[in-house]
Amino acid sequence: MSGPVNPADATTETADARHPSPPLVELSDSRSEQVGRIQVRRALPRKGRRTVGAWCFADHMGPADVTENSGLDIGPHPHIGLQTVTWLIDGQVLHRDSLGSEQVIKPGQLNLMTAGNGVSHAEERTGHYRGRLEGIQLWVALPDATRHGPAAFEHHAELPRADLDGAVATVLVGQLGDLVSPARHDTPLIGVDLDLRRATTVPLRVDFEHALVILEGEAAVNGTPIAPGQLAYLGLGRHGLRLDVRQPTRAVLIGGEPFPDPILMWWNFVARSRREIDDAYTAWAGRDERFGSVHSTLSPIPAPVPFWQQPG
Ligand code: MN
Repeated sequence: MSGPVNPADATTETADARHPSPPLVELSDSRSEQVGRIQVRRALPRKGRRTVGAWCFADHMGPADVTENSGLDIGPHPHIGLQTVTWLIDGQVLHRDSLGSEQVIKPGQLNLMTAGNGVSHAEERTGHYRGRLEGIQLWVALPDATRHGPAAFEHHAELPRADLDGAVATVLVGQLGDLVSPARHDTPLIGVDLDLRRATTVPLRVDFEHALVILEGEAAVNGTPIAPGQLAYLGLGRHGLRLDVRQPTRAVLIGGEPFPDPILMWWNFVARSRREIDDAYTAWAGRDERFGSVHSTLSPIPAPVPFWQQPG
């Protein structure tokens, strides 16, 4: 869930934000990737689909078997310009960061770290949990107003839940009907976990664009089946989303106001220009105080040299 982003995920050129579209179902395949010790399926970014609202990254990790001594095991690494949103459906992970946070996360809880101008963290085994691990890590691109600001960390042990008659919806970020998540968001955003038992309609904001990631099972939208390992981009302009399911299905719905700025993603950095990425790379390589330090038994992860700095 360190989520190094490279050119296989998306072009690193800044480009015009792709014009959001009216309601549709556009499927793209995830890319398999090893992160730490665990296999992940990267649903976002994909080529041609950089953001959904301000959501700019989605790694479905696991399911995997972990032990007291071997787990996610992602050593200290830096972030800029984004928030990490971590949500587990099975298992436990220990989060440590340069703000001094030390927090075990369990299913039903949310860890949200705001990088601002710079933060570093590690995602580790807990030292006591043994069993299955499965979850999703999402990133949110920060707007100009806060992307150079201070870092912060939140843990939410409880989140609002709604019974949608056919599904239980947990509001990770934003608002669903009357339910409001306590999690910070700096742009209009929605993130919902859906535990689906039968056909359900999820109320949506018509001015948001949305996408669906299936973790387990299968759901259909307008007759188009969506399986694990796919991102279904759903466009804008929906008042509700009808999901047809024939088996127990777990999914995450993300959405928001289309993000106005073209973003540049490289490794663990979200920026607007190569200059900003270069500066972050140099600061991490030089162990600059910009990223602080993390109390961790794992070794810090070196940043890859941005490809535009490489000779040839
Ligand atoms: Mn990370």
